[in-house]
Amino acid sequence: MSGEQYDYDLICIGGGSGGIATARRAAAHGARCAVIEASRLGGTCVNVGCVPKKVMWQAAHSREVMARAADYGFSGVAPSLDWGALVSAREAYIERLNGIYDRNLDNSGVDLIRGQARFTDPHTVEVDGQSYRAERFVIATGGTPGRPGIPGGDLGIDSDGFFEMTDRPEKVAVVGAGYIAVELAGVLHQLGSDVQLVVRREKPLRGFDAAIQDAFVESIEAHGPTLVNHFTPAGLEAAWGGYTLHGADGRTLEGLDQVIWAVGRLPNTDELGLDAAGVRMDAAGTIPVDEWQSSNQPHIFALGDVTDNPYPLTPVAIAAGRRLADRVWGGQHERRLEYRDVPTVVFTHPPIGSVGLTEADARAAHGDAVRVYETRFVPMDFALAPAEAKQRSTMKLVCVGDDERVVGVHLFGVGSDEMLQGFAVAVRMGATKHDLDETVAIHPTSAEELVTLT
Ligand code: FAD
Ligand code: NDP
Repeated sequence: MSGEQYDYDLICIGGGSGGIATARRAAAHGARCAVIEASRLGGTCVNVGCVPKKVMWQAAHSREVMARAADYGFSGVAPSLDWGALVSAREAYIERLNGIYDRNLDNSGVDLIRGQARFTDPHTVEVDGQSYRAERFVIATGGTPGRPGIPGGDLGIDSDGFFEMTDRPEKVAVVGAGYIAVELAGVLHQLGSDVQLVVRREKPLRGFDAAIQDAFVESIEAHGPTLVNHFTPAGLEAAWGGYTLHGADGRTLEGLDQVIWAVGRLPNTDELGLDAAGVRMDAAGTIPVDEWQSSNQPHIFALGDVTDNPYPLTPVAIAAGRRLADRVWGGQHERRLEYRDVPTVVFTHPPIGSVGLTEADARAAHGDAVRVYETRFVPMDFALAPAEAKQRSTMKLVCVGDDERVVGVHLFGVGSDEMLQGFAVAVRMGATKHDLDETVAIHPTSAEELVTLT
């Protein structure tokens, strides 16, 4: 079939991080593109993810800074939060972003089709009864929050519900052990709620370097939120005086105003008609792709959170999409995203930053060739703080081989979020411990610890 018989060269299903980035880049290479979006433009990140989360983190961080004002001689700093005003300002900001995304698509010459897309054959999708044919497709439909399949699971809310809250809950349980659980628990704690972070194992943040897990647990044990570990939720019940969360071992958490599930996310694939397109899913409902983002159908690509991608992060979806467009429509035949050395930050209080291999992964791959440098210190942010308010930072370098190539950088402490990006460049370029040692330090900062480790 010739290209003339298609409405578009490319249709991206999903107007979130990955879909928009792919379509705009493909259009820049001359492809005729459309994006189909069922909800608000910008997807999870802009509407119920990174952006509103970072606004809430910033509010919580402001509260932390104000709490330290007295250490520097300020008096009369007694903040009281108008949650409704914060939420209104946040949502107005997001609406502006929705508009900017709309205009950007328009300026790039990408058509926006509003509605839910469903494949009716491998080259056709239907939206509100109207069919659109394309030579190629990118599925970038993202994911939605999951809930535990336990009695009363519907009584709690999820991260989408968190962003709909019009008041701050007084007493709340946040259930889960990943990014979202620790971030939302941290925000609510800093903004004044009584928060229990409920994890089913010993510690949250499995998959992060052990030093970071330990530093985070030590920090919340000293400063909150309260960690409730080895608690597997078995049921949630609405009772007089609040919700009761039942654990599988018979323990209960009572008198809760709110329970927030943060137990993982599910790919948006069940309404897509993938059978009609002949696209295979795995048992979890995600779309397996090869290194070129191809599904089992060579003309249908998938990227971002809907795939089996190990890094469900916005910049990863964007990078995968732009590289795909450069390859297919830009003639850059080898261009693809390598899924390694992806830097990531967890916006806890203080934040966590991580890139590359954990010590455990490095030892599994390289055995005794691994050398680790680690430091713990109280950053100058707490120089004048009373002992009980000081928060320690942890930094760890994982190095491999005789030349001590840096293969992992793991940070916990004030400023880790902004510190990591530059070190991720160094890791990608193959920097060695010697390169870090040869770099003149910036004093007095936390970052200088990374170039002065012994
Ligand atoms: P999405 O951005 O989810 O976009 C998918 C779009 O497809 C949605 O708009 C959806 O409405 C649409 N859609 C679905 N099905 C259809 C259909 N059939 N037809 C039409 N449209 C459809 N990542 C970071 O990098 N940093 C962070 O700080 C961060 N914080 C986060 C905080 C939270 C609370 C959450 C939930 C996620 C966070 N993430 C963060 C992850 C990030 O949001 C995702 O990795 C990213 O949005 C994935 O992009 P995507 O393009 O794959 O999907
Ligand atoms: P994750 O998959 O990261 O974490 C969910 C965790 O919850 C699981 O790992 C599991 O931990 C625990 N869990 C699962 N089921 C249950 C259950 N029934 N009861 C109790 N605990 C359970 O998911 P998230 O939803 O937190 O985040 C999804 C992704 O979104 C992240 O992986 C990240 O890539 C992205 N994101 C990124 C952010 C950032 O960049 N700052 C912020 C937020 C999200 P265990 O097995 O250890 O018990």
